[in-house]
Amino acid sequence: MKKTEAAVDVLAVGAHPDDVELGCGGTLASLAARGRSFGILDLTRGESGTRGTPQIRASEAAAAAKVLGARFRQGLDLGDGGLRTDRDAELQVIEVVRRFRPRIVIAPFPADRHPDHVRASRLATEASFYAGLRALKGGAAHRPQSVIYYASSYTQQPSFFVDVTDFFETKMKAIRCFSSQFYDPSSTEPETVLTQKTFLDAIEARARAYGKLINVTYAEAFVSPRPPTLADPVAAFAGYEPGFDGPLR
Ligand SMILES: [Zn+2]
Repeated sequence: MKKTEAAVDVLAVGAHPDDVELGCGGTLASLAARGRSFGILDLTRGESGTRGTPQIRASEAAAAAKVLGARFRQGLDLGDGGLRTDRDAELQVIEVVRRFRPRIVIAPFPADRHPDHVRASRLATEASFYAGLRALKGGAAHRPQSVIYYASSYTQQPSFFVDVTDFFETKMKAIRCFSSQFYDPSSTEPETVLTQKTFLDAIEARARAYGKLINVTYAEAFVSPRPPTLADPVAAFAGYEPGFDGPLR
C-alpha cells in the first residue's frame, strides 16, 4: 500500500468492528455531510465475538462504512480479546496515522468495561503522538492536533456534545449493518448482552439523554483533554433551556 494517501480530517479508531458506529457514528455522518473527510480504523477483526465470523464482520463493517460516508475503513489484526499494544502493534497504528494524516483522532474513552477498549484508547493516543516523531523511521512524520474520546459502555463527564439529531437514523442504519452482532429475532446463534433488543434501546436512550442536556433530540458525547475553542459562545448556547448552571462542578 502507498505510504501516503489523501489526508483525512478525522480518523475514528475502535477496538472491534462496530465500536465506532456505536460511539460516534452520528458525529461521523454529520461530518461527512459538512464535507469533512474521515476514515475508520478497526484494531481487531472481532474474531472473539459470540456471533458471526471475521469474514461476516468484515463485510458488515464495509457496508456500515458506506452508510456513514467513510473515505476508507481499515482493519488491523491485533487480537480480539487480548488486544496487543506492543511495539509492533504501535508501529502498525503509527503507519496508518502517517499514511492518512488525520487532524483529529477519535478513540474510545480511556476507561471502559471491555479491556480491549481501554487498550485501544491508549494505543491510539500514544501512536498518534509517536507518529509525529521525525526520528522514527517509516513514512513522513505526522501528529494529529488532538485525540478526543467517544463513549462506550461507561460514560464520563463530557467535555462537549455533538448534535446528531439529523444523523441519528444514519447511525442506527450503520449499526444495523452488523446484523450478526445485534438484535435479530431470526438468528439461531446464542443470545448475548449485545443481541438483546434492550442494547440498541439503550444506545438510543443515551443519545436522547445527552440531547436533552443541550435541548436537541439526539447527541453524542465526547471527552477532550483540552477543551475545544468556540468562535461564538452565544451561538454555542443557542437553543439551551434557560437555567441556573452553577455552582461549577
Ligand atoms: Zn468493542
